[in-house]
Amino acid sequence: MNKFIFVSGGVCSSLGKGVAASSIGALLESRGLNVRMVKCDPYINVDAGTMSPYQHGEVYVTDDGAETDLDLGNYARFTKGRLRQANSITTGQVYESVIRKEREGKYLGKCVQVIPHITDEIKSRVLAVPKEDTDTDVVIVEIGGTVGDIESIPYLEAARQVIHEQGRINAISVHLTLIPEVASGELKTKPTQHSVKSMQEMGIQPDILICRSPVMLDELNRKKIAQFTNVDIDAVFTSPNISTTIYQIPIIFHEQKLDQIILRKMGVESRHSDIRPWNTLMERFSARKGKVRIGVVGKYMEIHDTYTSLYEALFHASLECGIEVETVKIDSSNLEKTGNVDSILSDIDGILVPGGFGERGINGMVKAAQWARTNNKPYLGICLGMHIMLIEWARNVLGWNDADSTEFAPDTKYPVVSLLEEQVNVKNYGGTMRLGSSETVNEEGTHILAAYGMKKIAERHRHRYEFSNQYREDMIKSGLKLAAFTPDGALVECVEWPDHPWGAAVQFHPEFKSRPTAAAPLFRDFIAAVKSAKKV
Ligand code: GLN
Repeated sequence: MNKFIFVSGGVCSSLGKGVAASSIGALLESRGLNVRMVKCDPYINVDAGTMSPYQHGEVYVTDDGAETDLDLGNYARFTKGRLRQANSITTGQVYESVIRKEREGKYLGKCVQVIPHITDEIKSRVLAVPKEDTDTDVVIVEIGGTVGDIESIPYLEAARQVIHEQGRINAISVHLTLIPEVASGELKTKPTQHSVKSMQEMGIQPDILICRSPVMLDELNRKKIAQFTNVDIDAVFTSPNISTTIYQIPIIFHEQKLDQIILRKMGVESRHSDIRPWNTLMERFSARKGKVRIGVVGKYMEIHDTYTSLYEALFHASLECGIEVETVKIDSSNLEKTGNVDSILSDIDGILVPGGFGERGINGMVKAAQWARTNNKPYLGICLGMHIMLIEWARNVLGWNDADSTEFAPDTKYPVVSLLEEQVNVKNYGGTMRLGSSETVNEEGTHILAAYGMKKIAERHRHRYEFSNQYREDMIKSGLKLAAFTPDGALVECVEWPDHPWGAAVQFHPEFKSRPTAAAPLFRDFIAAVKSAKKV
């Protein structure tokens, strides 16, 4: 079976298109179909890797080292299908490859144009997904941006062509819109009508509408929307605001029979559905007792999207440990300025220092690590958070006041963290870090081995700086545990505090592989340690 679902959005951004697309994927999987998710991003950057978190939010890294949009993280948490570079299409990549082909003379003297050359490139990338992953039944293609954006036009045109060429039984359009509520409390359908008109002007008749609305739409509103948009009334769905968790959305869609209608539209005979795992997840959500407060100390804290996978991993751990986790976002610059770290961290039960780049706020993170170490509070460091653990140890235990990473202080006397050898001659920024999945071997008697339950693991990386091997002996002698290495022993992958309830930091990003039904082992054990230290 080779079916395509194009998910587009209208009215405005941030309606939860990624979660809606992922939920559709989850529901089709619950009916035994093999799903592959693809994101089309209309920006001209080749990938998300060079964009500031303020512009773009998290950079999600795949096993094969692609630096992608955070929606791929949602796909990974909701669905099981393999995700890699091919699942993330950007305008930058599309143009790069069309221009390269033009230079190679591949267009045989033709004038190279948006239609057909750019649209053909987009189409060939989408159509290649089921050819490469031959077990694919359905490809769900999320088109970034909002209908009406100039940048999205080539993607919608490519979708129109695929729908036309494959036939509407093989390729359908799902359109997500907003139903705003005005002051009188009335729900307004007009923006949705206009949004569908814009789709129709692009030559696409949506088959299914998902309306983001403060409350469930009643029959009257659905009828009105159906009438104005040529969409069947039973294909108008609501994505209501929810106060629980995004993982309830597949259940909410299933209750409205979204999966059934999609199968009908695609001519797939109805299959048995099993959404028990999602129901179980919601039961665990409600059964949690007590609460711990985790201080996430970094920069870019005002934007939730910067660390989406990290917050999700904490949430998954909270489900697994049966306790609520409140994440307290602490801007490390504030800790840097204050002389009274205790007062800012007084009601914090554990510290998490996530990945990050650049010098700002570093000393605040070091103070948070020191506070956790000396107050016996569990600490989890990720990538930059491992560099911080090393700097803090070197400064405060070894007494090397000047210790630093050469990322922040190139001339430090004690460069306990320094540029990876392979990075020394790298000039370009894009796609040049140590990226993607690689193996780590865990040492006996460590938190990391206890968490994973196996010696050899594979996790994803995204960094240029690393533990400086010249200090291995000093670190070991002073008591710091070097808890995991690359299989050749060349790089340190995990360090842990001795004589402390639970302090571990890793060079990789476990959060990228955390799932709601299987929390990342280190996140789970970190929260379990916080829970037992707090005795809740
Ligand atoms: N800035 C550090 C490096 O490049 C850490 C990167 C990260 O935390 N992802 O090595």
